[in-house]
Amino acid sequence: MASFSEEVVCHHCGGLLHCSTDTKESESCYSYCLDCGRGRKMMAYRMTLEELNKERKEWEMPPITRYKVKETHDGNSKEA
Ligand SMILES: [Zn+2]
Repeated sequence: MASFSEEVVCHHCGGLLHCSTDTKESESCYSYCLDCGRGRKMMAYRMTLEELNKERKEWEMPPITRYKVKETHDGNSKEA
């Protein structure tokens, strides 16, 4: 479990864009520019089994009929 961050060049203003990915609790990823203030935030989500099996097919993995782990109660899960 780690949190990852990096600094990249902002494509809006050429300033310093700070990106951070937190995998500890709620898997979230966000970035913000320290110069122009533009930012982005993405929260974890769960694919539907249909979407998931489509992805698994790409990886030549057999389809699954249920998730490996139970639904979490963090409010971020989306009903299929
Ligand atoms: Zn910027």
